[in-house]
Amino acid sequence: MIYIGIDLGGTAVKIGAVSASGQVLGKAEKPTRAERPYGEVIRDMAEGIREILGQLNLPEDQIAAIGVGVPGAVNNDTGYVTDCTNLGWMNTDFRGEMHRYFSCPVILENDANVAALAEAKVGISKGTHSSIMITLGTGVGSAIMMDGKLWTGSHGVAGEIGHMILVPDGVACNCGRMGCVERYCSATALAEQARHYSLTYADTMILQMAGGKKENITAKMVVDAAREGDRLGVQLFTNYCRYLAMTIDNVINFFDPEMIILGGGVSKAGDFLLKGVLSYIPAYVMGAERAGTRVVLATLGNDAGIIGAALLGLK
Ligand SMILES: [Zn+2]
Repeated sequence: MIYIGIDLGGTAVKIGAVSASGQVLGKAEKPTRAERPYGEVIRDMAEGIREILGQLNLPEDQIAAIGVGVPGAVNNDTGYVTDCTNLGWMNTDFRGEMHRYFSCPVILENDANVAALAEAKVGISKGTHSSIMITLGTGVGSAIMMDGKLWTGSHGVAGEIGHMILVPDGVACNCGRMGCVERYCSATALAEQARHYSLTYADTMILQMAGGKKENITAKMVVDAAREGDRLGVQLFTNYCRYLAMTIDNVINFFDPEMIILGGGVSKAGDFLLKGVLSYIPAYVMGAERAGTRVVLATLGNDAGIIGAALLGLK
């Protein structure tokens, strides 16, 4: 039997067939084009699944389950995507629509949870009793694994660390409040700060990388400039690491997990990010035992979404 995993993103839908041990056997990809009616996006997913079955020369009844990671909130009792602002999907009958094409079980989960599940089953946190994954992307998300299971909270919204307040009266957030973690620790925040300060530091390498247009600045450019010793790059990246360390330290002080895993776009900065963050950790974490929490980088990269979604079917 194979397990289908679907990573539903804002720009692309990645589909994969995965073995029970978490090995990726075949893949397909479709553009999301989220402006379309959701039925068309799900039809493309079904087409991708059929393509993979063709690659592997397997009949449909070999699919044990279809799992999907959604960048928003889901309800597994109803099979609905309840709130996915990025795609404009509100109370969308995902399972019902997918059942028009395949009759196997269809399981939904939030995408940060899916990535954490993948790392815990076949990645860096395999064998740990507790871990928290923090994703540093467009926003900041997190997922909690306890005793090999996801802890999603009594209302399914646990781990919203992106909207914990880090700076009183700080930068305004999409959620309507001010000073949220997301406004300091996301890839978006890093790029936005660089855009803002590029006017004062007109000689910054970041602006050159963006072809002189501040609206083209990305988080990766800031990281690359910091590596090269660019004054603005170093300043912004150092601040970024400090804010992220404070957030991590709050999580450690509160939860004392065995491991904290950093994933998402900014984690691609690798050891450069890890070193920067770790240098601040002793300043904030109380007690030697809590300071024993390992802070590491995600290892599964782009396939984490497919693998984790597929492994939802093992339950
Ligand atoms: Zn917020």
